[in-house]
Amino acid sequence: MLETISTMFRRIMLNLTMLNSTVILLVFIIYSSVIYFYIADNLFDTIDNAMVRAITDFGDNNKGFFPSNRTLHLQNGKGKMIHSEEQRRKPPPLVDLRILVVAEDVDGRILLPEPNEKIDLEDVKKLITDIPDKIPQSIMLNDHEYRILSISYPKGDYPTVRVGKEKIIEVKKISAVTVVDSEVSMLKRLVLIIMIGTIIGFFVIIGVAYYLARRALVPIKVSWDKQQQFVTDASHELRTPIAVIKTNTELLLHNPDHTIEEESIRIATILKESTRMGKLVATLLTLARADSNQIEIERTRVDLSDILKELAEQFEPIAEMKGIKIQVALEPHMEIIGDKERIHQLFVILMDNAIRYTLQEGKIVVVGKVQHGAVHISMQDTGIGISAENLPLIFERFYRGDKSRSRDDGGSGLGLSIAKWIIEKHGGRIQVESAIGEGSQFHIYLPLEKKVFSA
Ligand code: ADP
Repeated sequence: MLETISTMFRRIMLNLTMLNSTVILLVFIIYSSVIYFYIADNLFDTIDNAMVRAITDFGDNNKGFFPSNRTLHLQNGKGKMIHSEEQRRKPPPLVDLRILVVAEDVDGRILLPEPNEKIDLEDVKKLITDIPDKIPQSIMLNDHEYRILSISYPKGDYPTVRVGKEKIIEVKKISAVTVVDSEVSMLKRLVLIIMIGTIIGFFVIIGVAYYLARRALVPIKVSWDKQQQFVTDASHELRTPIAVIKTNTELLLHNPDHTIEEESIRIATILKESTRMGKLVATLLTLARADSNQIEIERTRVDLSDILKELAEQFEPIAEMKGIKIQVALEPHMEIIGDKERIHQLFVILMDNAIRYTLQEGKIVVVGKVQHGAVHISMQDTGIGISAENLPLIFERFYRGDKSRSRDDGGSGLGLSIAKWIIEKHGGRIQVESAIGEGSQFHIYLPLEKKVFSA
């Protein structure tokens, strides 16, 4: 079975929510990871550089351990080069007690810079043996995190260190060891904060994404519903003339011996209904095209006084038949830039309504003047009027105050919605004042030249 519209909208909303949350969450995770790795990298970089400096200083203090022009190139765990020369440029800190420098002589004995009973030589050995050369390492020992850097020297190029007062011995390897407990625990805390942030963020993001998806779908849902309503109303409108034509044609076929004269009423009805259907289809097409912005509006100079005068003359005979008087008071040369055909259509709709909804012996007054950069046309009738509750509905498609009456008069409930569209296309607006039994007054404001053709 086809899914209903509301389930389809719910599914789209859930998909949008999932998609939005995933994207936001991914951005959040990538951002947090970048921050984490940047901090971790910098933190250990600083420590590794301090260890290089400590090894270098160790040599300097021990007379010619490293020739001063010698540049050490060390690689850290990620293959990045650390230049001791670069480090040398920075003045060393006054004290850097956290780094222990250990030398290993050619016989594998461990030499500490000064005797220190608190240091367990066995632990030191564990840390500095079997670690790659010139690559800083992190090792866990006795519940502590250590960072170690070792440099081995080739035979024949062994540096020397002074032991005690006189003795100078050769060393093959020098290592720097430091405790990084606080750095590691800080990084662990950072991971925890990021994880908690991600979990809380996850729920917040889902909520926000759901809200945004809902909001984004509201206008689509509204226009979908309107479209559905339009199709339903249009088919409903077309059904009546089709039924009338069908019934009358069938009746004609029942009496093949009747003359055209005898059946003239039925034939006239068929003609009337098909004309009406043709008009309706044309109007529907206009509205459909207007909705998809397919209608091009021409831009020419249009004199509203000319159009309205001409229109009043054309409608006069029809009005006279109902005993209605048309009065016109127009300023000369009320020019706007617009589409002459459409403007003409607009006033035909309004004038036609004014005559249709005005009873015998009524009056229609058309006044036009230029006011505040716009042309103001007012069309007032002494007709049946519109109730306050119906007033906001009259521009809706297919809205008809009195269904049967409007249909009998040839109305389809689409006139005013087309009129409004034409006015808005020309950057103008329309207002109505009306009272039941007293009549209605339509005010149309069209900008003189600027602000024309808003979408
Ligand atoms: P219709 O084809 O029914 O005239 P419109 O869109 O032109 O369709 O008008 C919508 C409704 O607005 C009409 O059915 C009628 O109830 C009301 N209306 C429009 N113009 C007038 C008027 N001049 N006087 C009274 N009612 C009017």
